[in-house]
Amino acid sequence: NGFAALGITGALLKAANAAGFTDPKPIQTQAIPPQLEGRDIFGIAQTGSGKTAAFALPILSKIIGLGTKRRPKTTRALILAPTRELAVQIEDTIKLLAKGAHVSTALVLGGVSRYSQVKKLAPGVDILIATPGRLTDLVREGDLILADTKWLVLDEGDRMLDMGFINDVKRIAKATAPDRQTALFSATLPNEIADLAKGLLKDPVRIEV
Ligand code: AMP
Repeated sequence: NGFAALGITGALLKAANAAGFTDPKPIQTQAIPPQLEGRDIFGIAQTGSGKTAAFALPILSKIIGLGTKRRPKTTRALILAPTRELAVQIEDTIKLLAKGAHVSTALVLGGVSRYSQVKKLAPGVDILIATPGRLTDLVREGDLILADTKWLVLDEGDRMLDMGFINDVKRIAKATAPDRQTALFSATLPNEIADLAKGLLKDPVRIEV
């Protein structure tokens, strides 16, 4: 029952339960097992549906599963969000879900000292949460290499589109590992998002909640 039945185990299951995540929401029930199997996800879901844990728990599970092999100077997973507020919220949820699991997180946001952000990324980070504008600058100027980034999440795709980030998103995705696993979430489905999904997702499981 609960998240255990979806394949979440061990310290992560304990931390999630302790954080009050005991009964999976529909999007979590549908999205977690395929992601644990390595599948891409195309989720049509609103804010408040529980999508953060739906993409965060599988990534955390995979990263924790790497054990001591993970520590190289790389960004393992990248989550792109349209706004600073959402990025901060996502990091908070991840920290809560991963409490005690020694998973590192970092934020890259516009309007924050660029130097301090780059310095924080240098030793490598398990999960980077970023807004597309600033991240594009870092990638373009070689301050951040994403070639080993094997998990990519695009949250609120339609809002990133509305805010004019679509080309940044494409550029960033292109810089990640070609064999990465990708999840795209969007509340609505304009043509540009359908096209983005076609370009970035491999045989995705489509979920609508
Ligand atoms: P989200 O759509 O990811 O922003 O989640 C909306 C709210 O629901 C957040 O406050 C989450 O912490 C909470 N939440 C998501 N999934 C669960 C769950 N399975 N059990 C309890 N709270 C949850």
